[in-house]
Amino acid sequence: MDSEEILALYTWAPGVCFRHPAAGEVETATVKKVHPRHGGEEEVRACRTCVLVIERDRREAALKAGLPYEPGHAGEAPV
Ligand SMILES: [Zn+2]
Repeated sequence: MDSEEILALYTWAPGVCFRHPAAGEVETATVKKVHPRHGGEEEVRACRTCVLVIERDRREAALKAGLPYEPGHAGEAPV
């Protein structure tokens, strides 16, 4: 699976990348949902570059743990 195929698994919308806030509004996907103490739900969004970094880390972690790697689920599970 190449980079474009992995990126296609996510839904993209303009937003601010959590790792590159200085870049302003770019194409981003939700990679994590956090539940702040005051209630509600906040989305952590990442740009294309960061999503690929996260997916690469997940793949490496899955390989190390001997677990199957399934792209497209950043933030849903530890691996
Ligand atoms: Zn980024």
